[in-house]
Amino acid sequence: MTIVPGALTIEDVSFNIGAARLVDDVSLEVAPGEMVGLLGPNGAGKSTLLRTVYRINRPSEGRVLVDGEDVWKRPSAWVARHVGAVLQDMPAEFPLTVIDIVAMGRSAHKALLEPDTGHDRRLIEAALELLQLAPFAGRPFRTLSGGERQRVLLARALVQQPGILVLDEPTNHLDIHYQLSLLRFIREIGRTVIAALHDLNLAAMFCDRLCLMDRGRVAAIGTPDEVLTPVTMRQVYGIEAHMTRHPATGRIWMMPS
Ligand code: ADP
Ligand code: MG
Repeated sequence: MTIVPGALTIEDVSFNIGAARLVDDVSLEVAPGEMVGLLGPNGAGKSTLLRTVYRINRPSEGRVLVDGEDVWKRPSAWVARHVGAVLQDMPAEFPLTVIDIVAMGRSAHKALLEPDTGHDRRLIEAALELLQLAPFAGRPFRTLSGGERQRVLLARALVQQPGILVLDEPTNHLDIHYQLSLLRFIREIGRTVIAALHDLNLAAMFCDRLCLMDRGRVAAIGTPDEVLTPVTMRQVYGIEAHMTRHPATGRIWMMPS
């Protein structure tokens, strides 16, 4: 069974720990197939917000809806069939091999201990091929480099066949070749994507819209042209910036000055 659409609504979400308000009244709609980049300085609240979407952080206020359903009113297995995630602090020390970890993505669709079917195996092999992981299939996960691990975790999220992918700095361990190929790949599979990204110019190149966070709040939201401006760069990052366009793609390009 394939569940696709993938409409995501973050509705007036706040998240507090004690007296600290880490996410402050954030609203954001992501349409099926849309890719939204989440930007903002360290500590802006990007990871905390993404963890509310993946049903790890229960919002203190507001709701997260996936295809119109409140994720906190559905079992976690339901969420796992609709939302795949590559988050930051995935445990790296399990003694599992690459193929075991990718296969874990199928558990969202199965009963406990139900063996993999031919269909499961085909999906797992296809994901390993797509992410150029086939040569690593039998390697223990902990022996991989950061970038290889990131591809394994993305492969695991893909075999869940979710409508929505939640990615927290998916390119941060990757060299520029893999940054580009991973972002291109994510774009091409046509799923709904919300991704915290560090590189503003890559975000502008690949995302339909950007959401710029600052101290838990949304500072700007819109197309890359609307969000990446000298004013937002000064306000949010405290830098002076000059905006130009990529000569080949015409996308906005930020140059610190
Ligand atoms: P980002 O991903 O944008 O860098 P985070 O969402 O990780 O930001 O963190 C937002 C803020 O919340 C930071 O100031 C961070 O120190 C704080 N924070 C994160 N987790 C906790 C926690 N468990 N307890 C207290 N503060 C936290
Ligand atoms: Mg983060």
